[in-house]
Amino acid sequence: MTAPLLGEIRPCVHRFVLGEAEVTTILDGAMTLPAVSPPFAMDMRPGRMQAIAAANRLPDDRVENTFTPTLVNTGSALVLFDVGFGGFGRDKGAGNLRARLADAGYAPEDVDIVAFTHMHPDHIAGVMEGDALAFPNARHVIGRHEFDEWSSGENIPVQRQQNREMFLRLITPLADRLEFVDDGQAVAAGITAEAAYGHSLGHMMYRVESAGKSVLIWGDVANHYVFSVQYPENRVAFDDDPEQAISTRKRVLNMVADGGTLVIGHHMPFPSVGYVERAGDSYRWVPATYQLRV
Ligand SMILES: [Zn+2]
Repeated sequence: MTAPLLGEIRPCVHRFVLGEAEVTTILDGAMTLPAVSPPFAMDMRPGRMQAIAAANRLPDDRVENTFTPTLVNTGSALVLFDVGFGGFGRDKGAGNLRARLADAGYAPEDVDIVAFTHMHPDHIAGVMEGDALAFPNARHVIGRHEFDEWSSGENIPVQRQQNREMFLRLITPLADRLEFVDDGQAVAAGITAEAAYGHSLGHMMYRVESAGKSVLIWGDVANHYVFSVQYPENRVAFDDDPEQAISTRKRVLNMVADGGTLVIGHHMPFPSVGYVERAGDSYRWVPATYQLRV
C-alpha cells in the first residue's frame, strides 16, 4: 500500500515574542495574479522583468499575492493591524482571518483595537462580518489624512472608484466609533503611527516597541519581496500616488536597512517577518529565522 497523496499543507499562523509582547501573523489568504506586469515592473524595458524573475527562481507570467494581517498582544491590549478581505474574499482564496484567529488562540471579541494601515480592500473589507462588526469590542483606528482623502474622494484615482464605494459603504458608517491618528501619535502604549503616504494617499505604518525590542509593521510600503524591495523605483499599478509611493518606499527601505529594523509586511512571503539588507545600490528582503528565538 502506498500512502495517499494528501495535497499541499501551508502554515497560516505564526507567532513570536517581542520583548514583553507577542506578535502573531495570520495569513488571510492568497490570490494568483495572471501577470507580473502590471502590477509590478511597470517601467522595465522588455525582457528585464523576465530576467529578474528567473534570477529569483520566480515565474514571469504570474504572481502570488498573499495577505497577512498582524495581531500584537502588548500585554495590556490586543491590537489587530488590518482585517483582511472578510466575506468579500471567501470565493477567491482569502477572508480566512477570523477563522484562523481561533487557531492562534483568540476570539474576535478579544480584539481591543483594530488599526488600519490604509483603505484598500485587502485591508478593510473584513471589518464587517455580515451586518455586524467583525471585531465588535474593538476601537477602530485610522490615519486622519487617509480618512479625509477617501471621504472627499477628490484625489482618489479613477481606478479606485469601486474601492471608494467600499469605503463609503463599510467605513463611513463607522465614523462615530473611529479614532484618528496622525504621524507620530500613539495608538496604544508602545505603538506609534508613522506616515508613509503614496501607496494610498494617507497610508500609515505602525511601530511596535516592547522592552527594548521593536518591529515596524510597514503595511504596503513594498508589495513584493523582489519586484518592490529590489527595484523600489519601479512604478507599481497598486500605488495610488506612484511618485510619492516610490519616494516613501526608498525612504523606508533606507531607514530599515540602516537601522537593522525588524519588519512585517502585509504582502511579504508568509510569515511576512524579515529584514531589509543593502544589496549593491539596492536592497533585498531577508526572511527572519531563529534570531527572534535564541
Ligand atoms: Zn495590500
